[in-house]
Amino acid sequence: MPASPLSARLHVDTAAIVANWRRFAVASGPADCGAAIKADGYGLGARPVLAALAAAGCRDAFVAHWDEVAALGPLPEGVRVAVLHGAAPAEIGMAMTLPARPVLVTAAQVAAWRATGRPCDIMVDTGMNRLGLSPAEAVSGLLDGLAVDTLHSHLACTEEPLHPLNAAQRAVFADVAARVPARRYALANSGGVCLGPDYVFGLTRPGIGLYGGGAAPGGARLDPVVQLSAPVLQVRDVPPGGGVGYGASFVAARPTRVAVVGLGYADGYPRSAAGFGVVDGVVCPLIGRVSMDLTTFDVTDAPAAREGSWIDVGFDLAAMAAASGRSQYELLTGLGRRYARTYR
Ligand SMILES: *Cc1c(COP(=O)(O)O)cnc(C)c1O
Repeated sequence: MPASPLSARLHVDTAAIVANWRRFAVASGPADCGAAIKADGYGLGARPVLAALAAAGCRDAFVAHWDEVAALGPLPEGVRVAVLHGAAPAEIGMAMTLPARPVLVTAAQVAAWRATGRPCDIMVDTGMNRLGLSPAEAVSGLLDGLAVDTLHSHLACTEEPLHPLNAAQRAVFADVAARVPARRYALANSGGVCLGPDYVFGLTRPGIGLYGGGAAPGGARLDPVVQLSAPVLQVRDVPPGGGVGYGASFVAARPTRVAVVGLGYADGYPRSAAGFGVVDGVVCPLIGRVSMDLTTFDVTDAPAAREGSWIDVGFDLAAMAAASGRSQYELLTGLGRRYARTYR
């Protein structure tokens, strides 16, 4: 859908993504540092994200589905893509036409893929009880003779560094890794890298951290990646006692200038945003309820806000996640399709 002149704008700071990736690459030490770009680069655009990361030296990218590989188009030089959901028998035909390898997750997938003679990755479930072979399956001989590029597992509790499942999963993975030959071994997502070098193995798979969410290795700060701005469609003066928006949930206590802007929950701006806008350096609180396509800000102290001007809308992932009860992952992948997107 082409953006219209009054579409809200979403700017993706690819230099910030690269700076964040470098933090994870440094924390990965001698291991390769890849990038999870599934769900269209966490909603920000898998192709431009991968182009920027590849130029910075990233060589491994992870998507969930085969159609996400197709959507990448020609891959940047030297980049290898792996598909985290593996290849169901019905997908093998498609998989053979695409420049990616599957991360096989079940014994049936392994059996079907074996007939292709092609390399693959393997996912082992070490205690998350989500996708993957059991450790017993992985060491049973099922994988004998298969060209395993990377043997993976995925951590369940990295947002709680002291959770005992982290060390337990690591121990199970180290045991399986010692018994299953592969070119590389990979356990850590962003949070796993933050747990320290014991969790790094030979390849890391950060995602959310690249996009400015979650924790940074070593407690550093991550650069914010998303900037939103929205058009002021109307400015109105509301007298004391006047209500604003659905439910009249905001009632003016003083004569209030209200900017009505073209941004709403259909754009992924959460209804309980507790947000703010910035006009000409003046912070303008969000007032009233966020509607599907419209949001209102108190611009009484920002005379530069007028019909046709633009308001920078705060999109601090941690603060918005706390205020909305949604995860930082949901906030990013929920950004809608209507934005005029720019990349730098
Ligand atoms: C999504 C995903 C990642 C990236 O996780 P983040 O928490 O975003 O860093 C890594 N590995 C697997 C298997 C994933 O599904």
